[in-house]
Formats: sequence, C-alpha cells, structure tokens
Amino acid sequence: MEIVKRLGQISPSATLAAADKSARLQAKGVDVIDLGQGLPDFPTPADICAAGIAAIEQGKTRYTPASGVPELRDAIAARYRAAYGIEYDRDETIVTCGGKHALFAAFQALVEKGDEVIIPTPFWVSFPEQVRIAGGRPVFVDAREEEDFIVRAEDIAAAVNERTKAIILNTPSNPSGAVIPPQVLEDIARVALEHDLVIVFDETYDQFLYGGALHGAPLSLGPEAKKVTLMIGSCSKTWAMTGWRIGWAAGPRELIKAMARLQSHLTSNPTSISQWAALEALTGDQTAVGEMLAAFAERRELTLERLRAMPGVSCGQPMGAFYAFPNVSELFNDEISDSFSLAAHLIETVHVVTVAGAAFGREGYLRVSFAVEIERLREALDRLADAFRLLA
Ligand code: PLP
Repeated sequence: MEIVKRLGQISPSATLAAADKSARLQAKGVDVIDLGQGLPDFPTPADICAAGIAAIEQGKTRYTPASGVPELRDAIAARYRAAYGIEYDRDETIVTCGGKHALFAAFQALVEKGDEVIIPTPFWVSFPEQVRIAGGRPVFVDAREEEDFIVRAEDIAAAVNERTKAIILNTPSNPSGAVIPPQVLEDIARVALEHDLVIVFDETYDQFLYGGALHGAPLSLGPEAKKVTLMIGSCSKTWAMTGWRIGWAAGPRELIKAMARLQSHLTSNPTSISQWAALEALTGDQTAVGEMLAAFAERRELTLERLRAMPGVSCGQPMGAFYAFPNVSELFNDEISDSFSLAAHLIETVHVVTVAGAAFGREGYLRVSFAVEIERLREALDRLADAFRLLA
C-alpha cells in the first residue's frame, strides 16, 4: 500500500501525542500531572448539557442543514454584531465540527498548490499542517519574545509576495498567551487589503483575557476589513465543550459557500445535539465562563510567580488563553539539548507533562497549561522546580 506523499509529510499533533503519553503512564498507575493539555479542566456548564439532553428528548437527532441549524448561525452572527458592530447574514456563517474543521475547510477553499500562507511563530500546531494538506507553503514570521510574542505588522508585510494568499492570526495565542493589540490588528488588516490577502482570524480563546488586556479583530478597521477577514470561533474552550465538537466561521459569502460545499460532502452537518447545546452556550447565562476565567487568573498568577523563580527559566506575561510559554533554553545540556528531550525528561523523571516549544515552531521553550486544578498545579510546579534545579 502506498500512502499519498502529501500526508506522509504531515506530523501527528504533538499536543495529542503528549496526551497519549500521559494516558499510558497513568494506566500503569504513575501519578502523572498533565500540564500538556489544551482544555479547561471544568465540566461543560449544566444548562448547556441540559440543552443537549433536551435536544435528544425532543428528537432533534436527525440531519440538520449541512451548514448548521439557522438558529445557531443567527446566534453566531449576533455575536459579531455585539462584539464588533459588524453584520453577517446567515449565509455568511457556517457551523463546523470544531474550530479545527472550520480552519481545515478554509485552507481547502483558499489555497492552491504552491500558495503561501503567513503564520506567526510560535503557532498552534495544526496551522502549518493544514496549510500543507491543502498543498500550500507555510511561511513563518517570528514574533519576538521581548515583545511578548506580539507579531509586528511590518514583519508580516515584509513576508508578502505574489504567491501569498492568506495570513493566520490567533489571538489570544496558543501557545504564548500573546494578545495582539487592536491597533496592530488594524495595521495587519491594511496589509491584507493592500495585497488582497485573507486574514484567517482564530479567536478560540477570546474570552480568556488577563490584566486588562484588550481583545480586538481586524474587523474594527471597518466594513472593508470584513471583505478580507474570516472569523473562526469555537465552543471548545469558552464553555468547556471540547468533546461536543462545535466551531464556526463567518466571512465573505463566496468563501463560506465554498467551505459549505466541502462540508456537505465531508461531514454533512455537525452533530445535531451539539448544535442545540451550542445555541444555549452562545445565548444562555454566561456565569460559568466568568467562574472559569477567575480560576484561570489565579492559576496564571501562581504559574508565573513560580516559573520565574525557577533556575534557568525566564517567562513572559501571557495576557490571554491558559498557557505560559517559558524560555528554558538555559537548562539544555549535551544530553537534553532541545525542548522535545526536556519535555520527555520531565515526564520520565518528575511525571509532569508539558509540550515542547519546537512543536509550536520555536525551540527553547515549553508550553505549560495552567488549566489544571490549583493544588495539582502547585504540586506540578514543585516537581518542575526540583527537576530544573538539577539541570541548571
Ligand atoms: N485554534 C486554536 C488556537 C486551538 O488551540 C484549538 C484547539 O486547541 C483550535 C483552534 C481548535 O479547537 P476545536 O477544534 O476544539 O474547536
């Protein structure tokens, strides 16, 4: 059997691989603390679960329109009206099987073989692979650590050429927690307008902001920015719904139409039950989101304070999401010479899972999730301090 070349080049998701490793050790009875996971440790709020159960009881268990139920698409449009004052018609929205699938469909619709897509580093692991699957070439632009990993508009402009098709922006960022200020987003929107590029704008973590950080979107430049922006959202993190698999996109009608055509042949509709639960998530009581944010804020403080006190570690200020991205390059030696070997060493010696920075396109760092119950987080940070002391 011969597997097609374009899939042979795709690396498996490093974050899912870390989760697998953790599960294998736990199955052997090892007390593993997992700071590698990219999901809230909270259950899905009760009202959202109840909406899912009600959907089953009411028999809402059949195919829905492939692009999602009208009520949910309208709720998505209403969200952007409220957040950015921008109007989307129902057919400028699509409900997808998670944000990941919205992104996948977008690159399939936008990228021809050889087209380039600009991706700031550090990046979320699936961005470059999805571009490659579509036949495109990821072009990386480093966001600077000393600038809190906020990518510069001029660095993006400098990477544009006649083959550039799109720019991916993810704010707040997984893995760095960087929040791109609205002014920078508007500057990048100007670059996109000037060169006729699409900004694929992933705001999966938009509800998790700290220290007064302001979240914006290219849309705030005005209605013309709507023509070059594809908004990507997800229920997964905001409402602790990672298993329900609901995400969405909103953007230019012809792009959404192409994504919808693809989806109609690929998955058909996202799960009907999950869509009704998602409608409750978007339109119902938001108390649980505030509670999660408060818990994450406390854990972020603890994580930063402890990481910064560790020998050989420096750590910037994540202003959003639920990850810290410490620089650990000073800990490297002849044996543990990169972030993959350091992450493996930490699992083996102190049973703490983190994810290698290299998986996110930046060697010398680790991604540390603080979406973990605070006493377990404290214990994990103690263990990391012990391990780092021996390496420093
Ligand atoms: N975008 C970013 C930046 C993410 O971190 C994730 C998940 O980890 C996703 C998109 C996709 O999330 P989902 O497919 O669960 O909606």
